[in-house]
Amino acid sequence: MEKLRLSDDEWRKRLSPDEFRVLRQHGTEAPWGGCFLGTKEPGTYVCAGCGNPLFKSGEKFESGTGWPSFTQPVSGDAVSEYEDRTYGMTRTEVRCARCEGHLGHVFPDGPPPTGLRYCINSVSMKHVPEGAPIPLVEA
Ligand code: FE
Repeated sequence: MEKLRLSDDEWRKRLSPDEFRVLRQHGTEAPWGGCFLGTKEPGTYVCAGCGNPLFKSGEKFESGTGWPSFTQPVSGDAVSEYEDRTYGMTRTEVRCARCEGHLGHVFPDGPPPTGLRYCINSVSMKHVPEGAPIPLVEA
């Protein structure tokens, strides 16, 4: 996959303040506040920064945590994962593999078949309905 690398200034122009804070500054949206809680429309969730396909609607489940949750990404190379030792915890951070935008974290307490829970900020994603073209953002 070809990476999309932009300066912070360029990201600031392209993203809303909330998107910039979460995607580029590792922020977290308030629980229960995201736009994709409870949504079930068929389609693909893509990166709000670059359009990279991240998660399919069929992999979404209700985790009860207040954030959209998925059992797995669309493919192994859709996201990149990093150890995150902030806030006195050891967690696994999940980023978009194309633009390195912060998405959320993955925890080992999800449902079958993976046992994983990708806990993702709504503001980091856009929903593309089934059959619609993927709006990949170019530099
Ligand atoms: Fe991205």
